[in-house]
Amino acid sequence: MKRYWSSRIRALTPYTPGEQPKNRQFIKLNTNENPYPPSPLALQAISQRADDSLRLYPDPEAGELISALSENYGLDPKEVFVGNGSDEVLAFAFQAFFSPGSTIVYPDVTYSFYPVYADLFAINSRRIPLQPDFTVPVQAFLGGNDGVVLANPNAPTGIELPQESIRRILEANRDVVVIVDEAYVDFGGQSALPLIREYPNLLVVQTTSKSRALAGLRVGFAFGHPDLIAGLNCVKNSFNSYTMDRLAIAGAAASVRDQAYFDRQREKVMATRDRTAEELSRLGFQVLPSKSNFLFACHPRLDARTIFQGLRTRGILVRYFDQPRIDQYLRITIGTDQDMQALTAAMDEILHTGA
Ligand SMILES: *Cc1c(COP(=O)(O)O)cnc(C)c1O
Repeated sequence: MKRYWSSRIRALTPYTPGEQPKNRQFIKLNTNENPYPPSPLALQAISQRADDSLRLYPDPEAGELISALSENYGLDPKEVFVGNGSDEVLAFAFQAFFSPGSTIVYPDVTYSFYPVYADLFAINSRRIPLQPDFTVPVQAFLGGNDGVVLANPNAPTGIELPQESIRRILEANRDVVVIVDEAYVDFGGQSALPLIREYPNLLVVQTTSKSRALAGLRVGFAFGHPDLIAGLNCVKNSFNSYTMDRLAIAGAAASVRDQAYFDRQREKVMATRDRTAEELSRLGFQVLPSKSNFLFACHPRLDARTIFQGLRTRGILVRYFDQPRIDQYLRITIGTDQDMQALTAAMDEILHTGA
């Protein structure tokens, strides 16, 4: 096995995405997808562009989407980068700003793609243990590294790091790039975006996958100083000129322009999240304070894997991480109110029967 693989690729352990079931209907609360449909204007834009023009390559600069984003967020187009999902944007950022052999820092409990990219690009990682309450020990991020990566709100905890702390980290790392991955920021967090003009070392990364219900379209963004954006374009244009296809550009641009729909859907998710957190607490769960579209919870009496299996048997999928420190927690995506009622009913049953 691996007979023809390069030595570098042989040594990798790839990222494991959450299960996408094919043969059975589950209530799917395991990959932080949005339970509501994308903006109707996005769907309309995609169908309108599914025509003869697909013969032609897309705009390599994705100008239509860059314009929609820069208008919506009050930025110069030179401060905006787009990619095929924020995972790709992050991969480009690691390559653009972190050198092979250098050492970057990120928390021990965070998005598990960061160590995968670090390995792929031969970057060393120093993992800073989160505090016992899963908050970020800011002191440990104040210099002595070649780059910083923070998911804010963090995944899979859902906890937000306050903006004063982000600012302290930026101040203390002026010579290296600080990536703030805001995949969940639209669910009640405060974005670091206003800081990009003050800190040319700040790259803010966002995605349409969660808050805009477009995980299937694969569109992510980065915002930062034009020099950082030029660095990302340098990597992109050394890899694939057309990362954004015609339908993705049109659909994402229409979604970004439909602010009213966006606000309505995310308000609904946040309200359901807060109600579900109360319900789970009532059932005895410890629920971390979440500013995301998921809850991270553990039960003092029942093993997390047992609950995970019990839910699965009852047709409900959540995410279980068999990892140190978090192996007694479940990450539960916020679905519709109906989904969450089914979840709490199943939890109630599992807690009473023990499986
Ligand atoms: C979901 C997620 C991403 C990836 O999002 P895509 O845009 O779908 O690639 C990036 N970072 C974090 C923390 C996420 O949870």
